Amino acid sequence: MKPKSRIVNIPVYQPGKPIEEVKRELGLEQVIKLASNENPYGSAPSVQQAIIDELSQLYLYPDGGAVELTAQLAAHIGVQPNQIVFGCGSDEVIALISRSFLEPGDETIMADQTFSVYKSNADIEGATVVEVPLQQGKHDLPAMLAAVTDHTKIIWVCNPNNPTGTIVTEDELVTFLDAVPSNVMVVLDEAYYEYVVAGDYPRSVELLERYNNIVILRTFSKIYGLAALRIGYGVGHADTIRLINQVREPFNTSRIAQAAARQAISDQAFVDDCRIKNREGMEYLIAAFDRLGLTHFPSETNFIMVDTGHPGMEIFQALLQRGIIIRSGHSKYPTWIRVTIGRPEQNEAFVQALEQTLQERQATV
Ligand SMILES: *Cc1c(COP(=O)(O)O)cnc(C)c1O
Repeated sequence: MKPKSRIVNIPVYQPGKPIEEVKRELGLEQVIKLASNENPYGSAPSVQQAIIDELSQLYLYPDGGAVELTAQLAAHIGVQPNQIVFGCGSDEVIALISRSFLEPGDETIMADQTFSVYKSNADIEGATVVEVPLQQGKHDLPAMLAAVTDHTKIIWVCNPNNPTGTIVTEDELVTFLDAVPSNVMVVLDEAYYEYVVAGDYPRSVELLERYNNIVILRTFSKIYGLAALRIGYGVGHADTIRLINQVREPFNTSRIAQAAARQAISDQAFVDDCRIKNREGMEYLIAAFDRLGLTHFPSETNFIMVDTGHPGMEIFQALLQRGIIIRSGHSKYPTWIRVTIGRPEQNEAFVQALEQTLQERQATV
């Protein structure tokens, strides 16, 4: 069997190492995973109850159009229902956008260190990927604008950016959007939207009224703590959303996921509580990095990227031996690691393990 030539060399996505695997391989009893930006506080108890209540309905197909959930979300964020599309995670929405808009000969612009799913989907569709270097971990919007050609179809702005955690501000984004040709789509991936506290973060939903070419991505996987259920969404102009719906599988979000998401939207107290605890954890980590003399990027997310001064892969391995899973292997930042902000005791264990690891390396130099 001969596959499509352009998919042959696409790498398989490498997820954060699963806890069970690390326990088995290293014979450790306790393993802390701070690698996939999952919510360390889980999901809201009220959401777990909504899931239990839905269990008697499993023999029924889900509502393919997620009508009830769409109406609820539309009211919550202040758009019309025909401006929203749900996906099996926002990952699927990225795939659907790529499938609807990208083809060989098209160019798509993204940062050189950002969420890898944009590039893999562009590769699958045969579009040419143009990567623009980050500046101090931040999207360089003027350089991204300068990269636009007649062939450009989509520009991906991961805001806040994964893995660096930085944001572009409302002013920077508006200046950029004013200059981007209206036939070029700008995707604003706001997977960490609910974690942001910066006052100058874009109010992107309001920008939809001024710019027809924006699509916003958000998810229930991060602060809502529902990563296992796979549900996220895109918000954009009704015409764009209709096109995306044309390539969507009929039942791409499950009944359980829809029920959970409906309840999750209703329980904003949980979200607020998680945001506050996350900031406390972030401050603790920043204080530790400062004490250890380590440089980090300013983060508006539930993770933070820090320069260890040693090969990140080696630090990853050393922390793994101590039962702590983080992320490394960022090609543009070979000495940096990305750590998810955990619960206080997890953060303390991470700092202790990092400090020991760095001391050992110091001693062997
Ligand atoms: C986690 C993440 C997503 C995808 O989340 P889903 O679980 O597919 O909804 C999208 N974009 C970024 C930047 C992320 O970090």
